[in-house]
Amino acid sequence: MAIAPPGVFFNNALGYFLSALDATMVLQSDVEVWQWFALLMGAIALFFWLRQRRFSPPKTAWESNVHLRDRALAASCNGIVISDARQPDLPVIYVNPAFERITGYSAAEVLGKNCRFLKGSDCDQPELTQLRAALQAGKPCIVILRNYRRDGTLFWNELSISPIYDSSGTLTHFIGIQTDVTERKQFEAALQQAKDQMRAILDAVPGVVSWINSDLRYIEVNRHLAATFNLPPEDFVNQQIGFIKHRSSAQFAELMAHFFASSTAEISQETVVEVDNQERNYLLVAQKYDRDRAAFSVGIDITERKQAEEALRATTSRLTALMANLQASVLVKDEWQRVVLINQTFCDTFGIATPPSELIGTDFSEFSEQQKCRFAEPEKFVQRWTEILKNRQVVTNEELLLADGRTFERDYVPIFVEENYCGNLWMYRDITQRKQAEKALLVTQEELRQALAKEKELNELKSRFISMTSHEFRTPLSTILSSAELLEHYRHKWTEEKQLSHIQRIQIAVNHMVHLLNDVLIAGKAEAGKLEASRTRLNLEKFCRELVEEIQLSSQNQHEIAFSCQGKCTDCYLDEKLLRQILSNLLSNALKYSPLGSAVTFQLACQELTVDNNCSQGEQVVIFQIQDQGIGIPVGERELLFDSFYRATNASHIPGTGLGLTIVKRCVEAHGGQISVNSTGVGTTFTVTLPMAVEDRKI
Ligand code: ADP
Repeated sequence: MAIAPPGVFFNNALGYFLSALDATMVLQSDVEVWQWFALLMGAIALFFWLRQRRFSPPKTAWESNVHLRDRALAASCNGIVISDARQPDLPVIYVNPAFERITGYSAAEVLGKNCRFLKGSDCDQPELTQLRAALQAGKPCIVILRNYRRDGTLFWNELSISPIYDSSGTLTHFIGIQTDVTERKQFEAALQQAKDQMRAILDAVPGVVSWINSDLRYIEVNRHLAATFNLPPEDFVNQQIGFIKHRSSAQFAELMAHFFASSTAEISQETVVEVDNQERNYLLVAQKYDRDRAAFSVGIDITERKQAEEALRATTSRLTALMANLQASVLVKDEWQRVVLINQTFCDTFGIATPPSELIGTDFSEFSEQQKCRFAEPEKFVQRWTEILKNRQVVTNEELLLADGRTFERDYVPIFVEENYCGNLWMYRDITQRKQAEKALLVTQEELRQALAKEKELNELKSRFISMTSHEFRTPLSTILSSAELLEHYRHKWTEEKQLSHIQRIQIAVNHMVHLLNDVLIAGKAEAGKLEASRTRLNLEKFCRELVEEIQLSSQNQHEIAFSCQGKCTDCYLDEKLLRQILSNLLSNALKYSPLGSAVTFQLACQELTVDNNCSQGEQVVIFQIQDQGIGIPVGERELLFDSFYRATNASHIPGTGLGLTIVKRCVEAHGGQISVNSTGVGTTFTVTLPMAVEDRKI
């Protein structure tokens, strides 16, 4: 071994000395002791160094142990403090590096001081009382204190105090071992907070919650579960789960026993539990944890939900039955146009082969476009569909005509839940039969109305007939009666000539009555629709001339009727009887309502009516025009003249029945012809146009 130079020797000696110093308790309280102790230790270090250098003898076991303990104290992770119990106020005489590291105070700063500075101003700690009592009594104790580092930050100090007694039993020192348990305390605090939160949550859970050991004992239960059995939660801890003598408790115990016996990690099942003498439905969920040594169980009362489900199921099945049996086509869609509900009638109506149940959830946004051709106006159908969807307004009984002639009625209902639009309902009904029935009803109503009007007209006719006959028949009847009475009483006194004149009066009156009755009969026949033209070949011109003569004679030639004829009217096909009614009524009226001796003209024209400017053959007609210079017809009454029994206001002083023109009009119509009247103040002109080659009508 090479000998070190004097400088190296010195350094090594100092190293031994310093290491010995480091491993030695620092006895600050007694400077002299310290100085002597240092010198002694230095000498011992020097001695050992020299021995090692010259003889290298081995250390003694005691020395090695001391050295090892000193090194252990220094290397300890725990802070170590030694206080001198023999001095007042227990001054610190030693702190190890771990103390310095934990507290931030250096040894120099703390030696000679009492350790209480570590608690800062945080004096309100019950553990301090405990600590003081132990120090006072010279007994060991372990406390956890809130201490403060040099920089003021808090750390939790688990302090273990051990009193040291000498051989005479005198308390000499206290050794304090500090452990920084801040992290543990923080973890415990966090754990406690998490536990509190968990308990708050589980207590708030509207269900029964429990933790159970695999030996079927309660670890813990929530408040709700405990309250169900009127017990505090603590009463359950460590109890066998069937400890409550209740059917539901026994049921639960059995269930959990099976669960733990099985290899299943979790179960979820519905069960009926008797609570307060009522059967309630519970959903029980349990999950194993801690390597299947415990389980967590939650039971939720689902009675209301079950009842609601049952009610919903009943409603749904009623709704489904209703939908299936409904004659209307029903479609309910959500806000994204997906089918929510659809019935078979809808599918049948719109030719959808897929069963309704398979259509649920399918996209129906293209429905209007796909179905538009079924409707009479396809584009209008699409346009209206889009408009309805956009407006989101209820639409009811909207009629749609289909291309095949059927009629549908449509309803649209937007569906809102709490003012949020969430879909729509469409309903279609085939109302074709109803529409037809309505139409038929309308026709029937119209027919009924017409029948009623006819009835009313007939009633009016009857009353007018009664008033007319009572008036018109009275005169000839009284004439007949008076002439007959006179003849009865005085005929033997009268000349034959006078008797004859009374007989003629009777005959004229009777003829007049016969004429009246004829008119009534013809008018009645016409009103009953039984007047029919039966055309025969006729020399019309000759017929008219003879009629004119006849009428002139019967009026005793008091009027001149000027007849003229245009065209070839010798070969016509007309109903002679009806023609006679037409012309005799018009001619006799012309005479009756004209002053004596005034001119009456009767023009007959057989001609072809020109239809247009082409050379095509027009219609062959015969036109009669009878014109007088008489009293005329007041404005506003001309159209009424053709009604049965109607008489103009200016004709009341002239006898008449008001039936003549009614008969004329019906006879004209039976020939398919027309009649018009023209009266401009003085005189009246009636024009009758009869077609020669049309089918005659039954009037
Ligand atoms: P009547 O002559 O018996 O009263 P009609 O039916 O023949 O019945 O005529 C109806 C009414 O038409 C007459 O009451 C009269 O007021 C009016 N009338 C018909 N012909 C003429 C005529 N040529 N000039 C003026 N009034 C006429």
